[in-house]
Amino acid sequence: AQLDTLDIVVLVALLLGTVAYFTKGTYWAVQKDPYATSLANGHAKAGKSRNIIEKMDESGKNCVIFYGSQTGTAEDYASRLAKEGSSRFGLKTMTADLEEYDFENLDQFPDDKVAFFVLATYGEGEPTDNAVEFYEFISGDDVSFSEKGGAEDKALGSLQYVAFGLGNNTYEHYNSMVRNVSKSLDRLGAKRIGDAGEGDDGAGTMEEDFLSWKEPMWSALASSMNLEEREAVYEPVFEITEKPDMSAEEDTVYLGEPNKNHLEGQQKGPYNAHNPYIAPIAESKELFNDETRNCLHMEVDISGSNLSYTTGDHIAVWPTNAGKEVERFVNALGLREKRHMVIGVKGLDATAKVPFPSPTTYDAVVRYQLEICAPLSRQFVASLAQFAPNDSVKAEVTKAGNDKDYFQEHVASKNYNIAQFLEAMGGGAQWTNIPFSLFIESLHKLQPRYYSISSSSLVQKNKISITAVVESLETPNAPNVVKGVTTNYLLALKQKQHGDPHPDPHGLDYSITGPRNKYDGIHVPVHVRHSNFKLPSDPSRPVIMIGPGTGVAPFRGFVQERAQQAKDGENVGKTILFFGCRKPEDDFMYEDEWKQYGSDLGENFELVTAFSRSGASKVYVQHRLKERAVEVNKLLLEKAYFYVCGDAANMAREVNEVLATIISEQRGVPKQKAEEIVKSMRSSNQYQEDVW
Ligand code: FAD
Repeated sequence: AQLDTLDIVVLVALLLGTVAYFTKGTYWAVQKDPYATSLANGHAKAGKSRNIIEKMDESGKNCVIFYGSQTGTAEDYASRLAKEGSSRFGLKTMTADLEEYDFENLDQFPDDKVAFFVLATYGEGEPTDNAVEFYEFISGDDVSFSEKGGAEDKALGSLQYVAFGLGNNTYEHYNSMVRNVSKSLDRLGAKRIGDAGEGDDGAGTMEEDFLSWKEPMWSALASSMNLEEREAVYEPVFEITEKPDMSAEEDTVYLGEPNKNHLEGQQKGPYNAHNPYIAPIAESKELFNDETRNCLHMEVDISGSNLSYTTGDHIAVWPTNAGKEVERFVNALGLREKRHMVIGVKGLDATAKVPFPSPTTYDAVVRYQLEICAPLSRQFVASLAQFAPNDSVKAEVTKAGNDKDYFQEHVASKNYNIAQFLEAMGGGAQWTNIPFSLFIESLHKLQPRYYSISSSSLVQKNKISITAVVESLETPNAPNVVKGVTTNYLLALKQKQHGDPHPDPHGLDYSITGPRNKYDGIHVPVHVRHSNFKLPSDPSRPVIMIGPGTGVAPFRGFVQERAQQAKDGENVGKTILFFGCRKPEDDFMYEDEWKQYGSDLGENFELVTAFSRSGASKVYVQHRLKERAVEVNKLLLEKAYFYVCGDAANMAREVNEVLATIISEQRGVPKQKAEEIVKSMRSSNQYQEDVW
């Protein structure tokens, strides 16, 4: 039969529609530059689907790995699971940022697919920023899905899922995200495969917890989905195209600029975790230094930037890797000659997100984009063996990757970063066979580091103070001293500002003027993160602050603020700060300032000091707190706010313990009851922590 005109119109329309449908998920997704407009506002951009089921269908996936990540670790574990699922079991995997999808249609998740949830717990048992909406939705009492209703209907009956949590046992709500989400999913009828894993950063066993959890999980998943394990083959996630015809000087090439606005030289707000502000450093100095330690005080100028902060917030500093380590990295890989070669980096699959903008150069990626100094995971080491320069190196690396104790003795205890490891194992040979994609997949994206702001926004709203000790880790077994990435960069900035002709501590040799000299004139990329660590809104309420070492940072801001309020004639309540350091003559931070604040606040201010290396016995803040039991208890009964800042592993835990003892003894209640009182102080925000 012949087609009439109407038929042809209909057919052409259908054909166009089909092409549009199939290209939407692949061609367009790969082409788009996520950094062009990614001044992320927390939601996927217009036109990008928030429907995960549709997205998986379009891109032929049967396994999605959602992550709730704050600092990138959970995201990294998600990527590793995705790679492993694909290389060992032939799963069609994708990772997904929880904030980029909606979950009302999870009731239609097909039963021949699987969803993973890799969830970090943040702060006091809270979801990470990108998991807030998902968490509120899934754990809500009135959760309801688009077709099957809610908990009563076991709406998620067709969903099989896998769960792993990242937590820290020094916090009370240990791994509460993965626990609560699993509970909610189970209540909704979903079927969990394997145990919900829990990694513990507090005990330092995150990596081993992850490794030992995932093997039984894969077996359970393999039997549930009828997967067959095959010999793992490395499949790159990214394609790296060298572009010898392009010059690194061309203005379309990213030399470390974080996004398109920065590349085009017109930085624009909002400034956030995706878009730093290149801020001038107004002032920098060292509060103390000795043979092994330097403590920095810096003032970052945010005027005219539209950035704002309130006392108690955090500032994030975006670091640059040390030139010395960049050098080591390109040498170990034999990339030295072509380090400034322009490269295009693109995901080989529509769902693979390149974590930085491209085109760029090897040098820029290594210097500005990847965490090249961090400790190595055993799994990453295992994946390097197949690319070893010769058989004996391969045997050694295979052993390090497979044998936990051997790895501990020959890799972990040496504090190697990736290039140091390759140097040490390679015995002089270069590792020219490792695909560059493997580093993009396996190393974290270089993370901004947070600092508790040490100034008051009431006193200096346009200048943010940072108080930081420069990280330097020396351990007996390790051939190198680990130099903290960000703090040594800040130290170099301080030295440059003071006209030091060699502003490079320990020969670290930073590119301190930034990509295309955009950070020249002493600038540093930053953004502000708002926190819940806040003074009471009523200044007459008493406050007790425990802040030894750099833990004093936010309390300098707090005391500065209350001193100002007192000067402004407000009624400011009792303000007690417990500060600790080694010796009064060595590392007593802000000693003169406290005197000034004391004279502004009068007898309502008290600084209680604890010196650990001055005198016969070691005295810590928790001892001083105990000595003041009567007064502390009295103030708490007057509704004093209680704050702790600094070391999470020991100090904060011990302070918590001491406080419970004080309450128990002073109020004559059993210890258990006192612990409950402390808990309820925490939940009502009368007890606040800012610890790391
Ligand atoms: P990194 O390079 O991140 O190294 C940190 C540590 O990791 C090293 O010391 C070492 O122990 C270990 N490490 C790194 N590489 C290796 C390796 N290859 N092998 C073995 N171990 C390794 N700090 C302050 O000084 N002041 C503050 O006010 C402050 N506030 C904070 C507030 C919050 C909310 C948080 C989360 C942290 C805060 N910190 C603060 C800590 C700060 O964010 C940084 O972690 C710290 O300054 C170290 O950063 P870095 O880049 O110099 O060191």
